[in-house]
Amino acid sequence: MRIESDLLRNLLVCQEEQPTSTLSQDLEYVASLLRENGPTLADRYSWLEAMINHVPDYIYAKDLNGRFLFANNAVVLNNGLSSVDELIGLTDYDLHGPELAAPIAEIEQRVIESGIADLGYEERALKGGPDRWLMMSRVPLKDSEGKIVGVVGASRDITARKMSERLMSVQAQLLEMIIAAVPANEFFETFSALLEKAAADVETAMFVPHGKAELRLASRSVPGWLKDTRVSVADMSTAAHEMEQFAASLRHPRDYVRSVEIRASDGSLHALLVLTLFGRSPEPSFSEFVTSAARLAGIAVDRILAEKRIRFLAEHDALTGLLKRDGLDHKLKGILTQAAHEGTRVAVAFIDLDNFKLINDTLGHDAGDELLREVAATIADTIGPEGIAARIGGDEFVVVVPGAGEDLMAQAQQLRGSISRLHLVEGHELRATASIGLAVFPDHGASPSQLLARADLAMYRTKRDGRDGVTLFAFDMAQEASQKLLRQEELRRALNRGEFLLHYQPQKNLRTGVITGVEALVRWNHPTEGMIAPCNFIPMAEESGLILELGAWVLERACRQGKDWQDAGFAPVKIGVNMSARQFQDTGLTEMVADVLARTGLDPRWLEIEITESLIMKDIDAAVIRMEELTTLGVALALDDFGTGYSSLSMLKRFPLSKLKIDRSFIVESPNNPDDRAIVSAIISLAKTLGLDVLAEGVETEAQAQFLLSAGCDEVQGFLLGRPEPPEAIERLLPGEKSNQTL
Ligand code: C2E
Ligand code: MG
Ligand code: MG
Repeated sequence: MRIESDLLRNLLVCQEEQPTSTLSQDLEYVASLLRENGPTLADRYSWLEAMINHVPDYIYAKDLNGRFLFANNAVVLNNGLSSVDELIGLTDYDLHGPELAAPIAEIEQRVIESGIADLGYEERALKGGPDRWLMMSRVPLKDSEGKIVGVVGASRDITARKMSERLMSVQAQLLEMIIAAVPANEFFETFSALLEKAAADVETAMFVPHGKAELRLASRSVPGWLKDTRVSVADMSTAAHEMEQFAASLRHPRDYVRSVEIRASDGSLHALLVLTLFGRSPEPSFSEFVTSAARLAGIAVDRILAEKRIRFLAEHDALTGLLKRDGLDHKLKGILTQAAHEGTRVAVAFIDLDNFKLINDTLGHDAGDELLREVAATIADTIGPEGIAARIGGDEFVVVVPGAGEDLMAQAQQLRGSISRLHLVEGHELRATASIGLAVFPDHGASPSQLLARADLAMYRTKRDGRDGVTLFAFDMAQEASQKLLRQEELRRALNRGEFLLHYQPQKNLRTGVITGVEALVRWNHPTEGMIAPCNFIPMAEESGLILELGAWVLERACRQGKDWQDAGFAPVKIGVNMSARQFQDTGLTEMVADVLARTGLDPRWLEIEITESLIMKDIDAAVIRMEELTTLGVALALDDFGTGYSSLSMLKRFPLSKLKIDRSFIVESPNNPDDRAIVSAIISLAKTLGLDVLAEGVETEAQAQFLLSAGCDEVQGFLLGRPEPPEAIERLLPGEKSNQTL
């Protein structure tokens, strides 16, 4: 007895002195006393009782009828009693009423009847608030003979664990939403719902800033007391505080109200979460969780907005802010659906600037960009808020105007007029005229792609008819286009079938009278239509890309011919070969030329490649590089049709040319037309200044030849001397070996 009271006293003293000491430390202490004194049975009983009363878990025993036989302090205190004696003999029905007691009695009865323990059962606590959870274990209570006489229960408070589990699952779902990048409103909706599930009796509402001084509800499911609420705030930086006060003013004073800010990484306010609990404060773990969830929500919304911005950028042209092709298709589809529904028309205009390339190449890309921005702004201004505008290529725009009426053409003309007014770009006054093609829904097509293709066709018609105008689509254009397609197919076959051939036109030195070169000119010997001139198929071959193959064939054929003539004993002459822009843009051109020269064995100095000014102007820098590559091979370069393009003196100086070919249009009326005479004389002296040879094209009369000789022109080419003819016919004109030596 002495030991027992000693032990207990020491245990209590120990607890008082060291309230933080753990049970194991206490047991250590008890064990040490035991080692010194040795236990009695009574000692053991009291120790057990002391230990049981000491643990924070709930421990009790009940008889077969659910009456308490024994319970530890934790149970006694939890039931608001002061001693275990008050509890003994009572049932849960006496303590909590039938509603709460029945489910517990049912479990305990099962354990008693089956003799099987029920371990780890989680249940809501009968006391201590709606969010308090216990983990219960119940085992049968047996007497010394092993007969079941009741039940022993032990339970543990798992509220904190339970809360953190739920919060982790909410957190996981938030992360999932971030990854899935759900739209912002859906995110807020789900976020609110998740928080309401995470704790009992929580109500949430989500507000988003509207303008500078207002908060508006953003969640669909809204507590009744907040319905249709707009809250004016003095300042977004104190919005949370103002919202809290506002919400609190609508609530009972015992309710808990908190407003949590959801902020972007740059500090701006995405949303305000308003949280209310009825008549109680939240668990601390829940409050902490809400704070971190709000941070997570901030990240989520940042991500969502970034996604939105990326989508905007993907659909809009960075330079002009207009829609891009994809965005246009998307919007146009919607407009057409609506127009079909309402029975209205929609105008689709395809706009191509006429001289943009030139401006870009001569004034630089910055000026070009600036002009495009100006034009884009003009288009947007002119069509107003109803229409949509897109930039779908370098200088190609599309305008869509719903509800197009009878004055369609007039409107399009007005648009053309405002685009081609003068724009002030980097101190230059520039005019970019526009070629416009129009197609109308539903008259000309039903789908965006069909309407765009037909507006494009109409635009091409404008270009062909002299640019700077408007053309409305007509069905014969589509027919023409399909004929064009057939023709292209025919052209492709022609190359494989060997339907192309070369004619040669002689070029003569005016002073010596000697033939110095021939120009190779391609012909298409069509099986049914006969001989077709190059102007009737070269543009088409350029468009389809076939010109690369055709051009390579012409080059090889011409070089081989030149070499054959030399091998046959004729004095070498220059072989002129025309080159189109498409070929010149091909990075493989120089290699191809070198290859052909090697294969045919023609000395490069006898090859003269003819290029035009417009070819060079397409991309000056690239053209200069290509020209330099070719001259490095030893090939000569002649500038064809000179005078019809835009070349300026300063540009000519940059090009490694050896010859200028004056365009036929200046020769036709000279020497009678004084203007032409002056131009031709000027070109000749210009060429001389630059150290270039000069040849006049299209010389048909002796008078023209005389004038050119007196003006200092080196060479002539034209019907006067000879038409383009098959190689056999040209041979008669070629100088023999001997005359070459006199050159
Ligand atoms: P071009 O290079 O300026 O060729 C001269 C054109 O003027 C030839 O027309 C020729 O027949 C014509 N011509 C020559 N002298 C006279 C004359 O005294 N009076 C008149 N009225 N015309 C004359 P063609 O053969 O129809 O060639 C037209 C154009 O087709 C060529 O103009 C050239 O740009 C292009 N071309 C011809 N062959 C080829 C080729 O193999 N490749 C490429 N890319 N273009 C070619
Ligand atoms: Mg030529
Ligand atoms: Mg020419």
